[in-house]
Amino acid sequence: MKIFYYDIAINLPLRQCFTYKSNIDIKNGMRVVVPFGKKNIIGIVIKKQINLNIDKDLKEIKSVADEYTCFDKSIFKTILWASDYYHHPIGEVFFSFIPTMLRKNNNKTISKSDTNIEYKINKDDKNLKLTPEQKNNLQNLNKIKSFSPSLIYGVTGSGKTEIYLQLAEKFLKKNKSVLILVPEINLIPQLVNRFKNRFSGEIGVYHSRKTSNKRLDIWLKSKFGKLKIVIGTRSSILMPLKDLGAIIIDEEHDQSYKQTEGFKFSGRDLAIKRAQLENIPIFLGSATPSLQTLKLVKDGKYKKFDLLRRVDGKKPPKLIPLDISDSSLLGGIASQTMSIIEDTINKDEQVLVFINRRGFAPIYECDGCGWVAKCSSCETNLVFHKSKNRLICHKCESVYGVNEFCPDCQSDELNIFGTGTERVEEVLQNTFKHIPIIRMDYDSTRLKGSIESIYEKVNSSQAAILVGTQMLSKGHHFSKVTLCVILNADGALISPEINAVEKIAQQLIQVSGRAGRSNNLAKVILQTRYPDDINLNKIKTGDYQLVAEQCLSNNKILNLPPYSFISILRVTSPNPNSSIKFLDKIVNLLSNKKSIVVLGPLPSIPFKIKGNVRNHLVIKSNSRTYLNRVLNFLTEKIENWPETKKVKWAYDIDPHDMS
Ligand SMILES: [Zn+2]
Ligand SMILES: [Zn+2]
Repeated sequence: MKIFYYDIAINLPLRQCFTYKSNIDIKNGMRVVVPFGKKNIIGIVIKKQINLNIDKDLKEIKSVADEYTCFDKSIFKTILWASDYYHHPIGEVFFSFIPTMLRKNNNKTISKSDTNIEYKINKDDKNLKLTPEQKNNLQNLNKIKSFSPSLIYGVTGSGKTEIYLQLAEKFLKKNKSVLILVPEINLIPQLVNRFKNRFSGEIGVYHSRKTSNKRLDIWLKSKFGKLKIVIGTRSSILMPLKDLGAIIIDEEHDQSYKQTEGFKFSGRDLAIKRAQLENIPIFLGSATPSLQTLKLVKDGKYKKFDLLRRVDGKKPPKLIPLDISDSSLLGGIASQTMSIIEDTINKDEQVLVFINRRGFAPIYECDGCGWVAKCSSCETNLVFHKSKNRLICHKCESVYGVNEFCPDCQSDELNIFGTGTERVEEVLQNTFKHIPIIRMDYDSTRLKGSIESIYEKVNSSQAAILVGTQMLSKGHHFSKVTLCVILNADGALISPEINAVEKIAQQLIQVSGRAGRSNNLAKVILQTRYPDDINLNKIKTGDYQLVAEQCLSNNKILNLPPYSFISILRVTSPNPNSSIKFLDKIVNLLSNKKSIVVLGPLPSIPFKIKGNVRNHLVIKSNSRTYLNRVLNFLTEKIENWPETKKVKWAYDIDPHDMS
């Protein structure tokens, strides 16, 4: 009897596979049941071993779990690439792209679904009148038949969604499927509505708030060619859609595409890799594209398609800096701003107030001795949430009671400082008693259906004020908003972080895009103490390309991404000494490597999370291949160090956040 040997990946943070034997010939990407420790668990077949210089006492694969493979060839290859590129344990990478129901050794198997879904295209004339710009671009986009990343650079309101709909239609007609990615769950309902109006037939919706049963259902229907359209967040990037024709990534610049916990990857970059391996078109849409994408356009690797005019022919609103250096603020709002809000409300129009902090107030402190409420495991300031009457840590979500007396000096003179969405909401409600004030932030959108009811409330109201965090700035369409107020952008404006200008420009231009979608006289007011700031003066022109060009040429001079490549090695440990010692040893090891720059060990911000101290090392190189080689070398060394028992370490490749 012939015996086969297989490398099997299992769902553990280990940078290795385990070899098992079997007399069955099994394909790569199949799920199998293998004995591991005292349990029988699910593993994924990664490779058949040909070199038979193998210990014959290996354990045997118990059974093959499914009739079908879990990963088709191109998805399998994409995951292998990801595990290698992000230097993350192979098993964890594979398992993060399987629906949770299939990760455990239970009775669930990959079985064909019997449902039949038919797609029909509804012609709603209203949307089919294209502007000459849309028409022209669509003609060119339709010519793309194979892998060739295309940036659809469309200013807010220029009709990108209509382009997506017509691209999808073209692929459906060829009996191909389409995957549409958005950065955040909250953006899904509005996009799904547009697609449902255009296409009858089930639209698959996939994200982390769906039940695991529903996710398995969508995954199976995609795999067996029943679903042709799936809209989802980064968890759906490797949705096994049969006959995939194209991938569309909306708001490609959005930081939410990056997973920052556990397996840290860029969803956008992974989708591009997938498209490359499947040799299919990929469309990246944005009004404020990332520098990385713009550089690839410059290098001739991506094509760019411009939509520079709004569908309604109107000019985007101007951003007007309002100097508040001498103003007193009530709930973060200056009196001049308040009267502009009042004028707008009196005209029965809507206002959007943007403040990038949720909760009521970010500081709770003692007037007597200066004590400040901090999270006991993260050392970050606790945020006062008035609606819950609690102090909440925004890093670890720990909830604390509100002290009546200072724990240090027993004074009862405790006070709050600063402003968050809840406080703005309260101040506005007290000022405009009969106007609906609608808050949109993490706290108010957590429950299922809450985003839909916010939309409903906004659309059914006349005069109303929306108060929200950056969540408001993303792709939402509120047609009655004619005034947009930005409260506290100063911190971001003068931030020393790399790419701070890119980030704030994207945010401000995106927020501005929410106003005046159907009104010519829309205004965007930015409260600031730095009205003469150089960057602000570029941003206020509303011309993102101008700002981006400047950022690119600065980064080129400073040799920063996208002109160089960065990896951060992050270490956490309950003991500050162990993590510094560990990083020092690495610095030493890398000291003779040329062509890389190593910075650190540096304390991370915040320094402490959930009781663990955090430090990091920045490793930079001009060559991605070389950096990758250095990290491989490093990983091999580190893994055998006894120090790894005292610390947790991981790479963050192409980090968005350098702190
Ligand atoms: Zn005190
Ligand atoms: Zn905390």
